[in-house]
Amino acid sequence: MSSELFLRPITELATALDEKKLSSVELTQTVIARTKAVDGRVKAFNSFDESDALTQAAASDARRAAGQARGPLEGIPIGLKDVIAVTGQPLTASSKMLANFVSPYDATVTQKLKHAGAVLWGRLNCDEFAMGSSTENSAFGPTGNPWDTTRVPGGSSGGSAAALAAGEAIATLGSDTGGSIRQPAALCGVVGLKPTYGLVSRYGLIAFASSLDQIGPFARTVEDAAIVLGAIAGHDERDSTSFKTDIPNYRAELATRKGPWKLGIPKEYFGEGLDPEIATAVEQAITFYQKQGCEIKEVSLPHTRYCLDTYYVIATAEASSNLARYDGIRYGHRSKNAADAVDLYSQSRAEGFGPEVKRRIILGTYVLSSGYYDAYYLRAQKVRTLIRQDFLNAFRDVDALLTPTSPMPAFKIGEKADPLALYLCDIYTIGVNLAGLPGISVPCGLTKSGLPIGAQLIGQPFQEANLLALAHAYEQAHEWRNQHPKL
Ligand code: GLN
Repeated sequence: MSSELFLRPITELATALDEKKLSSVELTQTVIARTKAVDGRVKAFNSFDESDALTQAAASDARRAAGQARGPLEGIPIGLKDVIAVTGQPLTASSKMLANFVSPYDATVTQKLKHAGAVLWGRLNCDEFAMGSSTENSAFGPTGNPWDTTRVPGGSSGGSAAALAAGEAIATLGSDTGGSIRQPAALCGVVGLKPTYGLVSRYGLIAFASSLDQIGPFARTVEDAAIVLGAIAGHDERDSTSFKTDIPNYRAELATRKGPWKLGIPKEYFGEGLDPEIATAVEQAITFYQKQGCEIKEVSLPHTRYCLDTYYVIATAEASSNLARYDGIRYGHRSKNAADAVDLYSQSRAEGFGPEVKRRIILGTYVLSSGYYDAYYLRAQKVRTLIRQDFLNAFRDVDALLTPTSPMPAFKIGEKADPLALYLCDIYTIGVNLAGLPGISVPCGLTKSGLPIGAQLIGQPFQEANLLALAHAYEQAHEWRNQHPKL
């Protein structure tokens, strides 16, 4: 096994652990050492607790020695985006508002990872309250892209993508409301999966826009993503939007689902604004599938041009409501400069929230206000239905859609000062959230200047097994997963 253990996939490491060639303590020590060596430049972590991780690893080794290993995640260090609750660990949402908050409980996904034997490793940086596409909106400062640390890793789960690409974790979790798993996965050259809305419990995820948010995995390979998804998916009565559905063995299904697939290419996703190198790489992926015997069909999603507007009405409306709880009394930063109770609310929120979060709260409050509700929020909900219908119509003819994940590769930190320019990063990912569908980004090349490119596959509701099998077929025929940034 290569000396760079921290760059190996779960599948290989699990075998080494099973064969006693490696212990979880050794693996965790390697990941900790790697983190200490590179995180000064990458800045993917908001916090980590070395001794706690080693204690978990030792417990995992003891289980394995006693013949009680809990499956492929036993002893594997997994990092969590800093919006997912872990008992006794800081939970900040990368906001001053929660700078000193320690979670008193576990998210459901956290519990499930513990059940699967994973070593929970560190709190990963993100845009404040997951609002952004570059991880620059973090109160902890930006994360660097491991392929070029002067560039952004994407966002909002930029820390989760960067930590994985840099070898500071073996897999990570992020959350995706409008693209926050897939876009950073594309920009950092890793696999990122946003599950169907309702497949993974949101209990213990700091809410941004509840009708759009989903937790999902970042992984080095599609097979690893299948393993992590299998561990975290499933019905949870503590999330009222959680769906009752059988969870297949996603990993085993990779070998059995072979197509031939019908793939749709939405013409609206290849227009103006798409970087030509990305267009070429995705076209090569289309050619690959065609050579594999897939039927390729151009399809149309005619309401695509309304996705961004619809998203920024619905997401901000839900955010303004979700973030009302941070008032300095029940939760969050409490101002020391307040004259009276009303002043305490406003000062605490003025001091605790950063500019992008404030912008969204103001916009969301406006679109929900009486007299405007019908004109904005209600209308956006209607358009959302049309957008979902576009996808469902396309799925009458095809099994999945193939698109670019992001219109551009990683850009320079500070380059996009205008919020609208940043909102445009999500044009290919947002529709999937509005329609509640699963989407995966897989590495599909590097630009001439050496920056990763991602292709997005979009699937039918709860058809993650098909989506993973399709992505796996592409991945296995290419070498992108073996390319790593030189840090
Ligand atoms: N970039 C989008 C936004 O800023 C999506 C964020 C996300 O998926 N959490 O809202």
